[in-house]
Amino acid sequence: MDTKIETIIEKVEDLNKDSAVIEKAGRIIREGGLVGFPTETVYGLGADALNEEAAAKIYAAKGRPSDNPLIAHISNISMLDNLVQEVPEKAKVLMGRFWPGPMTLIFKKSEVVPKGTTGGLETVAVRMPDNDIARALIDASRTPIAAPSGNLSGKPSPTIAEHMIDDMYGRIDMIIDGGMVGMGLESTIVDMTCEPPMILRPGFITKEMLREVIGEVEYDKAIFAKPDENVRPKAPGMKYRHYAPSGDFSMYEGDEEKVVAVITQKAAQKLKEGKKVGVITTYQHCDLYKPLEQMGAEIITIGDENKLETIANNLYKVLRDFDKKGTEFIYGETFREDDLGKAIMNRLTKAAGYNIISV
Ligand code: AMP
Ligand code: MG
Repeated sequence: MDTKIETIIEKVEDLNKDSAVIEKAGRIIREGGLVGFPTETVYGLGADALNEEAAAKIYAAKGRPSDNPLIAHISNISMLDNLVQEVPEKAKVLMGRFWPGPMTLIFKKSEVVPKGTTGGLETVAVRMPDNDIARALIDASRTPIAAPSGNLSGKPSPTIAEHMIDDMYGRIDMIIDGGMVGMGLESTIVDMTCEPPMILRPGFITKEMLREVIGEVEYDKAIFAKPDENVRPKAPGMKYRHYAPSGDFSMYEGDEEKVVAVITQKAAQKLKEGKKVGVITTYQHCDLYKPLEQMGAEIITIGDENKLETIANNLYKVLRDFDKKGTEFIYGETFREDDLGKAIMNRLTKAAGYNIISV
């Protein structure tokens, strides 16, 4: 982008006290501008979803490929009808159970949704966020807000306002600082235009949770395929390298002791070569890396392997912190892939550029 914008940064702690900030942000959206704001999943970069020019500014600010559609955020169910051709029965059931919350549904789009918002597709992704600031902003804008994650394309999603400031300062009109997000992973995306409904991106709402309320649900096979397998994902965004730190990131899976031994050996080698080295581990294993730490490696405890939500919460922050420290080689352990583990490993696999080594 050539012209720098003076980005307004405002904290919102109490919606009653800070209503003027939300009003100002709403006005910016209505007038076709861009606002960064917190949701319960990650920070979003918002624009009027019905204004093609405004949506185009999102792509420019993020450096996002134009075939990668945006999610339209609504603050109440009544906003949905205008955006879609029909609401299938199963979608109604899911909305009743999981909205507001970290679940995005794909519908056939109505005329009012510009293709500039949907990456040229005839479908539209819609979500109602479980975050008071986000919903207040949508109310104040009086329009659905198209918002992808607020990172530069390819970078980890922002989970605190500082990450958004790092990526978007000078590129967008305003950033609302609402503190740290609750979850730290993007929403589960479910395509409701096919039968059975299909998960296009795993997230906090797991396949099992969906099945409990609507029966059969399947995964888009591309989610777990390597890029060279040439399976095209139904969510265009899932094909891009994503969430990547700048350093060389590899992950090791297998027997616990072997994993620790291999990581220790590889990392020690890089330390000897004078490189900056980091290791991502859990509360359970961090003590095992004490020798490496003494050699100068940065050992980061990402969370508790028995509480995967703690790992989800810290994931992007940890990757960004390595960037800030200039870490050149990052080694990580893999996580079990049940429940939330699928979403975590989906993001980590991409962050590591599919560089997962079995030991
Ligand atoms: P982000 O908000 O940055 O997490 O990106 C939104 C994700 O939703 C991307 O992976 C998109 O490809 C996906 N998405 C948005 N709209 C659609 C749609 N109509 N059909 C399929 N995937 C979509
Ligand atoms: Mg994103």
